Amino acid sequence: MKGMILTEKFAVKKGGGYIVIVGCGRLGAYLANTLSNLGESVIVVDKDESAFRKLSPSFGGIVIAGDATEITVLNDAEIEKATAVVTVTNNDNTNIMVAQLAKEIFSIGQVIARLYDPECECVYHEFGIETICPAVLSMKEIDKLLPAIPLGVMDGEGETE
Ligand code: AMP
Repeated sequence: MKGMILTEKFAVKKGGGYIVIVGCGRLGAYLANTLSNLGESVIVVDKDESAFRKLSPSFGGIVIAGDATEITVLNDAEIEKATAVVTVTNNDNTNIMVAQLAKEIFSIGQVIARLYDPECECVYHEFGIETICPAVLSMKEIDKLLPAIPLGVMDGEGETE
């Protein structure tokens, strides 16, 4: 019911489209604040209610407290109407589970997941899930800063970037 009211509000503002962010940690809150400031409609889900304190006072989206691996919580977030879902909890298993539910059960067009373990990346790609791997991104940046020593950074699929 809570989600329904919020969706109506979004429908007036953005024609019904919104982005669901799962995990309101450092990255999730930063992304949510940035998208909200840009005028995007955002729903943030976190199992720890205190995590929402990271949202800025100007955040204009919706927060839902709950474990995102539970279908009832995803239903509360009306995930099925989202244009994109971004899973950025601190747990790879949670991120892959929520990302798979978003893709397979709720047929979300764009699903992006943070992944700490680059070796799991190919599993996500099989399901059409886009991934962000902090370790790989950091290695690429270090590679740029150390041009004298080509590191030959590989992504999770063993491809050299
Ligand atoms: P950080 O480590 O700063 O990226 O924060 C990760 C966030 O993910 C924390 O706020 C956690 O409470 C949240 N989180 C972890 N597992 C879940 C889950 N199953 N459902 C919703 N949020 C979660």
